[in-house]
Amino acid sequence: RMAGLEGAATISTRPMRREVYVVPGPEGLDFDDAGCVMGDLDCGFYLRPERPNNILIGSVEAACDELGWVEEPDAASLTLTRTEFETHVLRGARRIRNLGLPHEQRGVVGVYDVTEDWLPVYDRTDLDGFYVAIGTSGNQFKNAAIAAHCMAELITEVEAGRDHDTDPVVVQGPHLGLPIDLGTFSRNRPLDADAPVNVLG
Ligand SMILES: Cc1cc2nc3c(=O)[nH]c(=O)nc-3n(C[C@H](O)[C@H](O)[C@H](O)COP(=O)(O)OP(=O)(O)OC[C@H]3O[C@@H](n4cnc5c(N)ncnc54)[C@H](O)[C@@H]3O)c2cc1C
Repeated sequence: RMAGLEGAATISTRPMRREVYVVPGPEGLDFDDAGCVMGDLDCGFYLRPERPNNILIGSVEAACDELGWVEEPDAASLTLTRTEFETHVLRGARRIRNLGLPHEQRGVVGVYDVTEDWLPVYDRTDLDGFYVAIGTSGNQFKNAAIAAHCMAELITEVEAGRDHDTDPVVVQGPHLGLPIDLGTFSRNRPLDADAPVNVLG
């Protein structure tokens, strides 16, 4: 908005308040060792290990869940909601035997920016020299290093004169050497009506 670019791109971002919950792994299960990342679209949650031997549970935007869109991100409450905590832990308990519902609720509350298709925008803008890495929602912390690498490659190419909008930069993954087409993260990408719209991206 400050750069005068509001509405200039197909993709926009919108702030959403989110909670994730942390509960102890059930007795007898070493979740640090045996745990994995699991998404359950039927029950409306995902979970992953959270050391030491905890399970982190979050929502995958089930159709019956109210989404926490906020107008004023700085004014959003950062306190966990008991009902939501219970709802999600009980969803997890449908898949993990003996998962308890603790009286003490633990977790993280935050606000993140969400795009229409839940993919981030890693791109230049219509203003020369102004680049954005935004709309990272709840799934890009783990990608921070490669996102930074992609942004560095993008900026280097565009500043050297490349028209990334018509000829998207393709970055080679530094470890596996696989191509990453940065057109996927364009601010003007077409929206796919069949693409999943949830935090798993
Ligand atoms: C409760 C919660 C749980 C999460 N769990 C996980 C998880 O389990 N795994 C995982 O990988 N990630 C998770 N995340 C997401 C992760 O935290 C974010 O993806 C990551 O922090 C994004 O970092 P960033 O610096 O790229 O973006 P941000 O910290 O969002 O930084 C973007 C910056 O760009 C600025 N900005 C935005 N729009 C514009 C614009 N148009 N012009 C100029 N500046 C702009 C913003 O003000 C901000 O300073 C979670 C987030 C929350 C809130």
